[in-house]
Amino acid sequence: MKIAIIGTGYVGLVTGACFASKGHEVICVDVIEDKIKKINRGQSPIFEEGLDDMLSDLVSRNKLYATLNLEHAILKSDLVFICVGTPSKEEAKYDYTYLEQATKDVGLVLKDSDKYKVVVIKSTCTPGTTNDHLKPILEQTSGRKCGKDFGLGFNPEFLREGVAVYDFLNPDRIVIGGIDKKSISMIEAVFTDFNAPILKVDPTTAEMIKIASNSFLAMKISFINEMANIAEKIDCDIKDVAKGIGMDSRISPKFLGAGLGWGGSCFLKDISALYQLSKEISVPSKLLESTIQVNKLQPLRSIELLERALSDHSVKGKKIAILGLAFKPNTDDMREAVSIPIIHELLHKGAEVHAHDPVAIENAKLIFDSSNFYLHEGPEQTLSGAHGCIIVTEWRIYSKLSPRDFINKMKTPIVIDGRRMFNPKKMRSKGINYYGIGLGK
Ligand code: NAD
Repeated sequence: MKIAIIGTGYVGLVTGACFASKGHEVICVDVIEDKIKKINRGQSPIFEEGLDDMLSDLVSRNKLYATLNLEHAILKSDLVFICVGTPSKEEAKYDYTYLEQATKDVGLVLKDSDKYKVVVIKSTCTPGTTNDHLKPILEQTSGRKCGKDFGLGFNPEFLREGVAVYDFLNPDRIVIGGIDKKSISMIEAVFTDFNAPILKVDPTTAEMIKIASNSFLAMKISFINEMANIAEKIDCDIKDVAKGIGMDSRISPKFLGAGLGWGGSCFLKDISALYQLSKEISVPSKLLESTIQVNKLQPLRSIELLERALSDHSVKGKKIAILGLAFKPNTDDMREAVSIPIIHELLHKGAEVHAHDPVAIENAKLIFDSSNFYLHEGPEQTLSGAHGCIIVTEWRIYSKLSPRDFINKMKTPIVIDGRRMFNPKKMRSKGINYYGIGLGK
Protein backbone atom coordinates (compact mmCIF):
# COMPACT_ATOMS: atom_id res chain seq x y z
CA MET A 1 0.00 0.00 0.00
CA LYS A 2 0.97 3.64 -0.33
CA ILE A 3 1.36 5.31 3.03
CA ALA A 4 1.95 8.87 4.21
CA ILE A 5 3.36 9.37 7.70
CA ILE A 6 2.86 12.81 9.22
CA GLY A 7 5.46 13.48 11.93
CA THR A 8 8.80 11.69 11.99
CA GLY A 9 9.46 11.36 15.72
CA TYR A 10 9.92 8.09 17.59
CA VAL A 11 6.53 6.77 16.54
CA GLY A 12 6.23 8.18 13.03
CA LEU A 13 9.69 7.28 11.79
CA VAL A 14 9.61 3.78 13.26
CA THR A 15 6.10 3.22 11.85
CA GLY A 16 7.20 4.43 8.42
CA ALA A 17 10.42 2.40 8.36
CA CYS A 18 8.68 -0.77 9.55
CA PHE A 19 5.83 -0.49 7.04
CA ALA A 20 8.38 0.14 4.27
CA SER A 21 10.36 -2.93 5.42
CA LYS A 22 7.17 -4.95 4.85
CA GLY A 23 7.08 -3.80 1.23
CA HIS A 24 4.79 -0.76 1.45
CA GLU A 25 5.70 2.54 -0.21
CA VAL A 26 6.18 5.17 2.45
CA ILE A 27 6.50 8.95 2.33
CA CYS A 28 7.37 10.64 5.61
CA VAL A 29 6.46 14.27 6.29
CA ASP A 30 7.80 16.61 8.92
CA VAL A 31 7.98 20.36 9.45
CA ILE A 32 11.67 20.26 10.41
CA GLU A 33 13.92 20.43 7.34
CA ASP A 34 16.98 18.99 9.10
CA LYS A 35 15.06 15.80 9.90
CA ILE A 36 13.93 15.47 6.29
CA LYS A 37 17.48 15.86 4.99
CA LYS A 38 18.86 13.34 7.46
CA ILE A 39 16.20 10.74 6.67
CA ASN A 40 16.83 11.16 2.94
CA ARG A 41 20.52 10.52 3.60
CA GLY A 42 19.46 7.26 5.23
CA GLN A 43 20.20 8.46 8.75
CA SER A 44 17.86 8.53 11.70
CA PRO A 45 17.40 11.88 13.46
CA ILE A 46 16.69 9.97 16.70
CA PHE A 47 18.70 7.30 18.47
CA GLU A 48 16.84 4.01 18.11
CA GLU A 49 18.50 0.64 17.79
CA GLY A 50 18.53 -0.72 14.22
CA LEU A 51 16.83 2.33 12.71
CA ASP A 52 19.89 3.79 10.97
CA ASP A 53 20.63 0.54 9.11
CA MET A 54 16.99 0.11 8.21
CA LEU A 55 16.66 3.66 6.84
CA SER A 56 19.82 3.55 4.75
CA ASP A 57 18.62 0.31 3.18
CA LEU A 58 15.06 1.55 2.55
CA VAL A 59 16.13 4.94 1.19
CA SER A 60 18.66 3.33 -1.16
CA ARG A 61 15.92 1.02 -2.50
CA ASN A 62 13.45 3.94 -2.90
CA LYS A 63 11.00 2.31 -0.47
CA LEU A 64 10.92 5.36 1.78
CA TYR A 65 11.67 9.05 1.47
CA ALA A 66 10.91 12.17 3.45
CA THR A 67 9.53 15.54 2.41
CA LEU A 68 8.28 18.84 3.78
CA ASN A 69 5.52 18.68 1.17
CA LEU A 70 2.47 17.26 2.99
CA GLU A 71 0.18 17.68 -0.01
CA HIS A 72 2.44 15.60 -2.25
CA ALA A 73 2.67 12.83 0.35
CA ILE A 74 -1.09 12.65 0.95
CA LEU A 75 -2.11 12.78 -2.70
CA LYS A 76 0.19 9.83 -3.40
CA SER A 77 -1.15 7.71 -0.50
CA ASP A 78 -4.05 5.40 0.41
CA LEU A 79 -3.47 5.67 4.16
CA VAL A 80 -2.38 8.76 6.08
CA PHE A 81 -0.96 8.11 9.55
CA ILE A 82 -0.84 11.16 11.83
CA CYS A 83 1.98 10.66 14.35
CA VAL A 84 2.67 14.17 15.63
CA GLY A 85 3.39 14.85 19.30
CA THR A 86 0.65 15.37 21.87
CA PRO A 87 2.67 16.65 24.83
CA SER A 88 0.99 17.34 28.13
CA LYS A 89 -0.05 20.80 29.13
CA GLU A 90 -1.37 22.29 32.35
CA GLU A 91 -4.51 20.80 33.93
CA ALA A 92 -3.10 17.37 33.04
CA LYS A 93 -4.48 17.43 29.52
CA TYR A 94 -2.90 16.79 26.13
CA ASP A 95 -1.79 19.75 24.10
CA TYR A 96 -3.45 19.23 20.72
CA THR A 97 -1.76 22.16 18.94
CA TYR A 98 0.26 19.89 16.60
CA LEU A 99 -2.48 17.30 16.22
CA GLU A 100 -5.11 19.89 15.30
CA GLN A 101 -2.74 21.61 12.86
CA ALA A 102 -1.78 18.34 11.18
CA THR A 103 -5.45 17.30 10.98
CA LYS A 104 -6.39 20.64 9.39
CA ASP A 105 -3.50 20.32 6.92
CA VAL A 106 -4.64 16.82 5.98
CA GLY A 107 -8.26 18.00 5.62
CA LEU A 108 -7.22 20.78 3.23
CA VAL A 109 -5.49 18.26 0.98
CA LEU A 110 -8.49 15.89 1.08
CA LYS A 111 -10.53 18.78 -0.32
CA ASP A 112 -8.62 18.45 -3.60
CA SER A 113 -8.55 14.67 -3.73
CA ASP A 114 -11.30 12.52 -5.22
CA LYS A 115 -9.60 9.30 -4.23
CA TYR A 116 -10.89 7.58 -1.06
CA LYS A 117 -8.23 7.61 1.68
CA VAL A 118 -8.21 6.64 5.33
CA VAL A 119 -6.78 9.01 7.93
CA VAL A 120 -5.34 7.09 10.87
CA ILE A 121 -4.50 8.82 14.14
CA LYS A 122 -1.56 7.30 16.00
CA SER A 123 -0.94 10.24 18.32
CA THR A 124 -2.16 9.39 21.81
CA CYS A 125 -5.23 11.38 22.84
CA THR A 126 -8.11 11.38 25.32
CA PRO A 127 -10.89 8.88 24.51
CA GLY A 128 -13.42 10.55 22.22
CA THR A 129 -10.92 12.88 20.49
CA THR A 130 -10.80 11.19 17.07
CA ASN A 131 -14.56 10.95 16.76
CA ASP A 132 -15.73 14.12 18.50
CA HIS A 133 -12.93 16.54 17.75
CA LEU A 134 -10.76 15.46 14.81
CA LYS A 135 -13.57 14.16 12.59
CA PRO A 136 -15.35 17.56 12.55
CA ILE A 137 -12.02 19.30 11.79
CA LEU A 138 -11.43 16.97 8.83
CA GLU A 139 -14.98 17.43 7.54
CA GLN A 140 -14.86 21.22 7.90
CA THR A 141 -11.49 21.71 6.24
CA SER A 142 -12.11 19.21 3.43
CA GLY A 143 -15.78 19.98 2.84
CA ARG A 144 -16.22 16.21 2.53
CA LYS A 145 -18.12 13.58 4.50
CA CYS A 146 -16.28 11.20 6.78
CA GLY A 147 -17.42 7.62 6.19
CA LYS A 148 -18.40 8.41 2.60
CA ASP A 149 -15.58 10.41 1.00
CA PHE A 150 -12.79 9.36 3.35
CA GLY A 151 -12.27 6.94 6.22
CA LEU A 152 -10.99 7.53 9.73
CA GLY A 153 -9.49 5.46 12.49
CA PHE A 154 -7.34 5.40 15.62
CA ASN A 155 -4.51 2.88 15.76
CA PRO A 156 -2.69 3.08 19.12
CA GLU A 157 1.05 2.50 19.25
CA PHE A 158 2.51 0.44 22.10
CA LEU A 159 6.20 0.47 21.14
CA ARG A 160 8.85 1.03 23.78
CA GLU A 161 11.61 3.52 22.98
CA GLY A 162 14.99 1.80 22.81
CA VAL A 163 13.49 -1.33 21.26
CA ALA A 164 10.95 0.47 19.10
CA VAL A 165 11.72 -1.30 15.81
CA TYR A 166 11.54 -4.74 17.43
CA ASP A 167 8.32 -3.85 19.25
CA PHE A 168 6.68 -2.48 16.13
CA LEU A 169 7.50 -5.58 14.11
CA ASN A 170 6.58 -7.99 16.93
CA PRO A 171 3.51 -6.55 18.65
CA ASP A 172 1.52 -8.46 21.28
CA ARG A 173 -1.62 -7.17 19.60
CA ILE A 174 -2.76 -4.68 16.99
CA VAL A 175 -5.70 -2.52 17.93
CA ILE A 176 -7.68 -0.91 15.13
CA GLY A 177 -10.33 1.60 16.06
CA GLY A 178 -12.26 2.53 12.93
CA ILE A 179 -15.36 4.64 12.35
CA ASP A 180 -16.71 1.99 9.95
CA LYS A 181 -15.94 -1.40 8.37
CA LYS A 182 -14.29 0.09 5.29
CA SER A 183 -11.84 2.16 7.37
CA ILE A 184 -11.03 -0.85 9.53
CA SER A 185 -10.41 -3.15 6.58
CA MET A 186 -8.08 -0.65 4.87
CA ILE A 187 -6.07 -0.21 8.07
CA GLU A 188 -6.07 -3.99 8.59
CA ALA A 189 -4.62 -4.48 5.09
CA VAL A 190 -1.39 -2.76 6.07
CA PHE A 191 -0.93 -5.19 8.96
CA THR A 192 -1.51 -8.44 7.02
CA ASP A 193 2.16 -9.39 7.33
CA PHE A 194 2.25 -9.03 11.11
CA ASN A 195 2.00 -12.10 13.26
CA ALA A 196 -0.28 -10.70 15.97
CA PRO A 197 -3.95 -10.84 16.95
CA ILE A 198 -5.98 -7.89 15.70
CA LEU A 199 -8.64 -6.32 17.88
CA LYS A 200 -11.20 -4.27 15.95
CA VAL A 201 -13.08 -1.64 17.90
CA ASP A 202 -14.37 1.90 17.55
CA PRO A 203 -11.93 4.84 17.82
CA THR A 204 -12.94 5.84 21.36
CA THR A 205 -12.40 2.29 22.66
CA ALA A 206 -9.01 2.15 20.92
CA GLU A 207 -8.02 5.47 22.50
CA MET A 208 -9.09 4.18 25.92
CA ILE A 209 -7.12 0.94 25.42
CA LYS A 210 -3.98 2.97 24.80
CA ILE A 211 -4.08 5.17 27.89
CA ALA A 212 -5.50 2.47 30.18
CA SER A 213 -2.60 0.16 29.14
CA ASN A 214 0.01 2.76 29.99
CA SER A 215 -1.76 3.59 33.24
CA PHE A 216 -1.76 -0.07 34.25
CA LEU A 217 1.96 -0.46 33.53
CA ALA A 218 2.73 2.70 35.49
CA MET A 219 0.57 1.40 38.37
CA LYS A 220 2.49 -1.89 38.38
CA ILE A 221 5.80 -0.04 38.74
CA SER A 222 4.46 2.30 41.43
CA PHE A 223 3.15 -0.75 43.27
CA ILE A 224 6.51 -2.53 43.32
CA ASN A 225 8.26 0.71 44.30
CA GLU A 226 5.99 1.07 47.32
CA MET A 227 6.65 -2.57 48.17
CA ALA A 228 10.39 -1.82 47.84
CA ASN A 229 10.17 0.97 50.38
CA ILE A 230 8.43 -1.41 52.81
CA ALA A 231 10.90 -4.24 52.08
CA GLU A 232 13.82 -1.93 52.82
CA LYS A 233 12.49 -1.19 56.33
CA ILE A 234 11.85 -4.82 57.21
CA ASP A 235 15.20 -5.97 55.85
CA CYS A 236 14.17 -8.06 52.94
CA ASP A 237 15.26 -7.67 49.34
CA ILE A 238 12.60 -6.48 46.90
CA LYS A 239 14.37 -8.35 44.09
CA ASP A 240 13.53 -11.67 45.73
CA VAL A 241 10.05 -10.46 46.60
CA ALA A 242 9.40 -9.38 43.00
CA LYS A 243 10.73 -12.69 41.72
CA GLY A 244 8.31 -14.55 43.94
CA ILE A 245 5.38 -12.35 42.98
CA GLY A 246 6.22 -12.48 39.27
CA MET A 247 6.31 -16.27 39.18
CA ASP A 248 2.53 -16.14 39.43
CA SER A 249 1.38 -16.28 35.81
CA ARG A 250 -1.53 -13.99 36.67
CA ILE A 251 0.98 -11.29 37.62
CA SER A 252 4.06 -11.93 35.34
CA PRO A 253 7.59 -10.72 36.14
CA LYS A 254 7.43 -7.84 33.67
CA PHE A 255 7.30 -4.27 35.00
CA LEU A 256 8.15 -5.49 38.50
CA GLY A 257 11.65 -4.02 38.70
CA ALA A 258 11.78 -1.67 41.68
CA GLY A 259 13.78 1.48 41.08
CA LEU A 260 13.59 5.25 40.97
CA GLY A 261 10.23 5.39 39.21
CA TRP A 262 8.94 5.56 35.69
CA GLY A 263 9.77 8.33 33.23
CA GLY A 264 9.46 8.94 29.52
CA SER A 265 7.16 11.02 27.41
CA CYS A 266 4.11 8.79 27.70
CA PHE A 267 3.35 7.35 31.13
CA LEU A 268 2.89 10.58 33.08
CA LYS A 269 0.91 12.40 30.43
CA ASP A 270 -1.30 9.39 29.68
CA ILE A 271 -2.09 8.54 33.29
CA SER A 272 -2.57 12.23 34.15
CA ALA A 273 -4.95 12.67 31.22
CA LEU A 274 -6.93 9.59 32.25
CA TYR A 275 -7.07 10.77 35.85
CA GLN A 276 -8.22 14.20 34.70
CA LEU A 277 -10.92 12.60 32.54
CA SER A 278 -12.05 10.44 35.49
CA LYS A 279 -12.50 13.59 37.58
CA GLU A 280 -14.32 15.45 34.83
CA ILE A 281 -16.84 12.67 34.43
CA SER A 282 -17.28 12.37 38.23
CA VAL A 283 -15.60 8.98 38.74
CA PRO A 284 -12.27 10.19 40.19
CA SER A 285 -9.83 7.29 40.21
CA LYS A 286 -7.99 6.83 43.50
CA LEU A 287 -5.65 4.25 41.95
CA LEU A 288 -4.53 6.61 39.19
CA GLU A 289 -4.04 9.45 41.68
CA SER A 290 -1.88 7.29 43.98
CA THR A 291 0.16 5.88 41.09
CA ILE A 292 1.15 9.43 40.12
CA GLN A 293 1.87 10.46 43.72
CA VAL A 294 4.07 7.44 44.46
CA ASN A 295 6.10 8.13 41.34
CA LYS A 296 6.65 11.78 42.23
CA LEU A 297 8.34 10.81 45.49
CA GLN A 298 10.29 7.78 44.29
CA PRO A 299 13.25 9.51 42.54
CA LEU A 300 13.99 11.44 45.72
CA ARG A 301 14.40 8.18 47.66
CA SER A 302 17.88 8.03 46.12
CA ILE A 303 18.82 11.33 47.77
CA GLU A 304 17.42 10.16 51.12
CA LEU A 305 19.61 7.05 50.93
CA LEU A 306 22.62 9.14 49.92
CA GLU A 307 22.16 11.60 52.77
CA ARG A 308 21.82 8.74 55.20
CA ALA A 309 25.14 7.29 54.00
CA LEU A 310 27.14 10.55 54.07
CA SER A 311 28.96 11.14 57.34
CA ASP A 312 27.35 14.56 57.96
CA HIS A 313 24.07 13.51 56.26
CA SER A 314 24.23 16.43 53.84
CA VAL A 315 24.99 16.78 50.12
CA LYS A 316 25.79 20.49 50.45
CA GLY A 317 29.17 21.26 48.89
CA LYS A 318 29.66 17.60 47.96
CA LYS A 319 30.54 16.30 44.54
CA ILE A 320 27.85 13.85 43.47
CA ALA A 321 28.19 11.59 40.42
CA ILE A 322 25.11 10.72 38.40
CA LEU A 323 25.37 7.72 36.09
CA GLY A 324 22.65 7.84 33.45
CA LEU A 325 20.39 10.68 32.34
CA ALA A 326 18.06 9.18 29.72
CA PHE A 327 14.70 8.00 31.04
CA LYS A 328 15.80 4.44 30.25
CA PRO A 329 18.70 2.70 28.49
CA ASN A 330 19.09 2.63 24.70
CA THR A 331 17.44 5.98 24.12
CA ASP A 332 18.56 9.60 24.17
CA ASP A 333 15.09 10.68 25.26
CA MET A 334 15.08 12.69 28.49
CA ARG A 335 11.39 13.56 28.56
CA GLU A 336 10.16 13.07 32.16
CA ALA A 337 13.43 11.28 33.00
CA VAL A 338 13.82 10.74 36.75
CA SER A 339 17.35 12.15 36.47
CA ILE A 340 15.73 15.60 36.14
CA PRO A 341 14.06 15.84 39.60
CA ILE A 342 17.08 14.12 41.20
CA ILE A 343 19.59 16.58 39.72
CA HIS A 344 17.41 19.60 40.40
CA GLU A 345 17.00 18.53 44.04
CA LEU A 346 20.75 17.90 44.45
CA LEU A 347 21.54 21.33 42.97
CA HIS A 348 18.87 22.91 45.16
CA LYS A 349 20.53 21.32 48.21
CA GLY A 350 23.89 22.80 47.22
CA ALA A 351 25.61 19.77 45.68
CA GLU A 352 28.01 19.89 42.74
CA VAL A 353 26.61 17.44 40.20
CA HIS A 354 28.76 15.52 37.71
CA ALA A 355 26.84 13.42 35.21
CA HIS A 356 27.33 10.97 32.39
CA ASP A 357 25.13 9.34 29.79
CA PRO A 358 26.27 7.45 26.68
CA VAL A 359 23.84 9.22 24.32
CA ALA A 360 21.65 11.79 26.11
CA ILE A 361 24.34 14.43 26.75
CA GLU A 362 23.08 16.82 24.06
CA ASN A 363 19.52 16.64 25.38
CA ALA A 364 20.79 17.16 28.94
CA LYS A 365 22.54 20.38 27.91
CA LEU A 366 19.14 21.80 27.00
CA ILE A 367 17.73 21.02 30.45
CA PHE A 368 20.37 21.94 33.05
CA ASP A 369 22.09 25.30 32.96
CA SER A 370 23.51 25.49 36.50
CA SER A 371 27.18 26.38 36.97
CA ASN A 372 27.27 23.49 39.46
CA PHE A 373 26.33 20.94 36.80
CA TYR A 374 29.04 19.20 34.75
CA LEU A 375 28.78 16.63 31.95
CA HIS A 376 31.51 14.07 31.31
CA GLU A 377 32.42 11.76 28.46
CA GLY A 378 32.86 8.61 30.50
CA PRO A 379 31.74 7.12 33.82
CA GLU A 380 35.30 7.09 35.19
CA GLN A 381 35.73 10.88 34.83
CA THR A 382 32.27 11.35 36.35
CA LEU A 383 33.15 9.30 39.43
CA SER A 384 36.51 11.01 39.93
CA GLY A 385 36.66 12.63 43.38
CA ALA A 386 32.94 12.08 44.05
CA HIS A 387 31.56 11.83 47.60
CA GLY A 388 28.67 9.74 46.38
CA CYS A 389 27.22 8.24 43.22
CA ILE A 390 23.62 7.62 42.17
CA ILE A 391 23.01 5.13 39.37
CA VAL A 392 19.95 6.48 37.61
CA THR A 393 19.77 4.68 34.23
CA GLU A 394 20.76 1.03 33.83
CA TRP A 395 23.02 1.44 30.78
CA ARG A 396 24.94 -1.77 30.09
CA ILE A 397 28.33 -0.01 30.24
CA TYR A 398 27.79 0.75 33.92
CA SER A 399 27.47 -2.94 34.72
CA LYS A 400 31.05 -3.30 33.46
CA LEU A 401 32.33 -1.05 36.25
CA SER A 402 34.07 -3.08 38.94
CA PRO A 403 34.02 -2.31 42.68
CA ARG A 404 37.66 -1.25 42.21
CA ASP A 405 36.59 1.44 39.69
CA PHE A 406 34.34 3.04 42.29
CA ILE A 407 36.93 2.73 45.08
CA ASN A 408 39.85 4.01 43.04
CA LYS A 409 37.99 6.96 41.54
CA MET A 410 35.68 8.19 44.29
CA LYS A 411 36.65 10.21 47.34
CA THR A 412 34.17 8.25 49.47
CA PRO A 413 32.76 5.15 47.74
CA ILE A 414 29.07 5.56 48.48
CA VAL A 415 26.96 4.03 45.71
CA ILE A 416 23.19 4.39 45.59
CA ASP A 417 22.07 1.88 43.00
CA GLY A 418 18.74 3.22 41.82
CA ARG A 419 18.34 0.36 39.35
CA ARG A 420 19.76 -2.52 41.34
CA MET A 421 22.43 -3.32 38.74
CA PHE A 422 25.06 -4.65 41.10
CA ASN A 423 25.39 -7.56 43.49
CA PRO A 424 25.08 -5.98 46.96
CA LYS A 425 27.19 -8.64 48.72
CA LYS A 426 30.05 -8.29 46.24
CA MET A 427 29.98 -4.49 46.36
CA ARG A 428 29.88 -4.40 50.16
CA SER A 429 32.55 -7.06 50.59
CA LYS A 430 34.93 -4.94 48.49
CA GLY A 431 34.45 -1.95 50.78
CA ILE A 432 31.76 0.00 48.97
CA ASN A 433 29.09 1.70 51.01
CA TYR A 434 26.37 0.27 48.80
CA TYR A 435 22.63 0.97 49.00
CA GLY A 436 19.93 -0.12 46.62
CA ILE A 437 16.26 0.63 46.25
CA GLY A 438 14.31 -2.02 48.17
CA LEU A 439 17.40 -3.54 49.73
CA GLY A 440 17.68 -4.27 53.41
CA LYS A 441 20.84 -3.73 55.49
P1 NAD B 1 7.97 13.33 18.74
O1 NAD B 1 7.82 14.64 19.42
O2 NAD B 1 9.24 12.56 18.87
O3 NAD B 1 7.71 13.51 17.15
C1 NAD B 1 6.68 14.27 16.61
C2 NAD B 1 7.11 14.77 15.24
O4 NAD B 1 6.01 15.42 14.61
C3 NAD B 1 8.25 15.80 15.28
O5 NAD B 1 9.30 15.40 14.42
C4 NAD B 1 7.59 17.09 14.78
O6 NAD B 1 8.48 17.94 14.09
C5 NAD B 1 6.51 16.53 13.87
N1 NAD B 1 5.40 17.45 13.59
C6 NAD B 1 4.75 18.30 14.42
N2 NAD B 1 3.77 18.94 13.77
C7 NAD B 1 3.78 18.50 12.49
C8 NAD B 1 3.00 18.79 11.33
N3 NAD B 1 2.00 19.67 11.36
N4 NAD B 1 3.31 18.15 10.19
C9 NAD B 1 4.32 17.26 10.14
N5 NAD B 1 5.08 16.95 11.21
C10 NAD B 1 4.82 17.56 12.37
O7 NAD B 1 6.73 12.45 19.22
P2 NAD B 1 6.66 10.85 19.44
O8 NAD B 1 7.40 10.47 20.67
O9 NAD B 1 6.96 10.18 18.17
O10 NAD B 1 5.10 10.69 19.78
C11 NAD B 1 4.11 10.90 18.79
C12 NAD B 1 2.78 10.47 19.37
O11 NAD B 1 2.79 9.06 19.64
C13 NAD B 1 2.43 11.13 20.70
O12 NAD B 1 1.06 11.35 20.76
C14 NAD B 1 2.83 10.11 21.73
O13 NAD B 1 2.11 10.21 22.92
C15 NAD B 1 2.50 8.81 21.01
N6 NAD B 1 3.31 7.66 21.44
C16 NAD B 1 4.64 7.82 21.69
C17 NAD B 1 5.41 6.72 22.08
C18 NAD B 1 6.87 6.87 22.40
O14 NAD B 1 7.43 5.91 22.96
N7 NAD B 1 7.50 7.97 22.07
C19 NAD B 1 4.80 5.45 22.17
C20 NAD B 1 3.45 5.31 21.85
C21 NAD B 1 2.72 6.44 21.48
